[in-house]
Amino acid sequence: MNLSNFQYIQNYIGGEMVEPLSKTYTDNINPATGEKFGQIPCSNHEDVEWAVKAAGQALPAWRIASAESKFKVLNKIADLIDENLEVLALAETTDNGKPLWLSKGVDIPRASANFRFFATAIMHFASESHQMEDKAINYTLRQPVGIVGCISPWNLPLYLFTWKIAPALAAGNCVIAKPSEVTPLSAFLLSKICKEAGLPEGVLNILHGDGPACGSAIVAHPKIKAISFTGSTRAGQQIASVAAPMFKKLSLELGGKNPNIIFADCLADDKPEVWAKMMKTTVQSSFGNQGQICLCGSRILVEKKIYEKFKAEFVERTKKLILGDPLEEQSKQGAIVSKVHYEKILHCIEQARQEGGTILTGGNAIHPDGRCAKGYFIEPTIIEGLGPDCKTNMEEIFGPVVTLQTFETTEEALALANACDYGLASTIWTTDITKANKVAMKINAGIVWINCWLLRDLRTPFGGVKNSGVGREGGWDALKFFTEAKNVCVEL
Ligand code: NAD
Repeated sequence: MNLSNFQYIQNYIGGEMVEPLSKTYTDNINPATGEKFGQIPCSNHEDVEWAVKAAGQALPAWRIASAESKFKVLNKIADLIDENLEVLALAETTDNGKPLWLSKGVDIPRASANFRFFATAIMHFASESHQMEDKAINYTLRQPVGIVGCISPWNLPLYLFTWKIAPALAAGNCVIAKPSEVTPLSAFLLSKICKEAGLPEGVLNILHGDGPACGSAIVAHPKIKAISFTGSTRAGQQIASVAAPMFKKLSLELGGKNPNIIFADCLADDKPEVWAKMMKTTVQSSFGNQGQICLCGSRILVEKKIYEKFKAEFVERTKKLILGDPLEEQSKQGAIVSKVHYEKILHCIEQARQEGGTILTGGNAIHPDGRCAKGYFIEPTIIEGLGPDCKTNMEEIFGPVVTLQTFETTEEALALANACDYGLASTIWTTDITKANKVAMKINAGIVWINCWLLRDLRTPFGGVKNSGVGREGGWDALKFFTEAKNVCVEL
């Protein structure tokens, strides 16, 4: 597989690469250069109808295909993703603006890991039985839901797309999937890989298009029985308002505004490595992928005793992050994903200024020399002086922008951590493991990291509380979501 200069993306329906029925396309823009480099189909409800028909034809055979045959084809897809790592990584970076080393080292390897993980998982998936002493035995059947919809965002394009598709397919469903219209290229390449791997026609259908015309038609289609969505809280609300009255199964992975709590005991003369790890990881958890990871810690809460030292060192390290062409190895920060998102982030920085925040470093758009002069780059930005109730600390920015707040007691740290309406992830830095466990118990979030960040075990439940969504992905949770439990009671 190779990448030509101009990418004509097509839908993947019934095992074929096809044009959208409307024959209309939008431009695909490289955010690092601001230039058009491809065309994206504008699919709508007619394409969804076509894909549902193809999925319906494929379903009877796929739902009873043996676990071993599913394992083989899903594993083959994983191998082909690995074989095409270079081209997939280049596609991801061209679409998204993230550094190429990140696409190569994280996004694409994780996409193949998702397929491999669920290919293996389905070989071991089992259901329960409940014995009523000598009266009866109940056994639970776990059957595929049927045709399911998977809709994903632009920040970790292939990584999050495959995180949904792999368990849905492994569980025996046929899938109608839509990647973000902002970053569709790696999903298009995946459709070629699925064809090459021998995935039966119609089992997976990939449609390209926007939320209002294509995503909403997937959500509203009466034959699509479950929706797995990752994206903004705003879109999640719209999806729930359509899918819930139709009693569809729903998994919603939404926005975050995650706290990163740093206790003073991280600074100890006899354990300099603790401080060093916390500082290094905090820079990553703040600005990794230009701050466009739903798990980034955007509200940094620091115990007052160490605040000045933390601030000085954090600002100094952040200033050293090299921002520039994502194709260059030394660039630690790439471009923001799109012009729209770039303008939104700059607006949020301006809003923080108006709310009385002090910009300690960053705050500006940047125009690197050379081919990236017209790209969408924003300096990593640190803001202090804002309380928990302002918009800057309440609303998701989803860019390279973090705020600093201080606390004096554990109770105060918890109150700040739980102050906003989101509850996706959180990070705690302390050498007092008892304190860490107690804080973890009281934080309103679906995920807590203690003295680490983004350390992921694919078997663990993944998801948020409050405005960060409902449902859990990962491990058995994902296979349970994509199956219906049916109890069968046999009187003895
Ligand atoms: P978005 O909600 O704008 O779009 C996500 C996807 O949904 C896209 O494919 C889009 O076309 C589609 N869509 C939009 N409106 C729709 C509708 N009404 N019906 C059906 N589909 C619709 O989000 P985004 O800007 O692409 O991604 C950024 C957001 O995703 C951030 O809020 C981020 O926190 C969130 N996110 C959450 C997680 C998580 O695991 N919780 C992971 C990554 C990103």
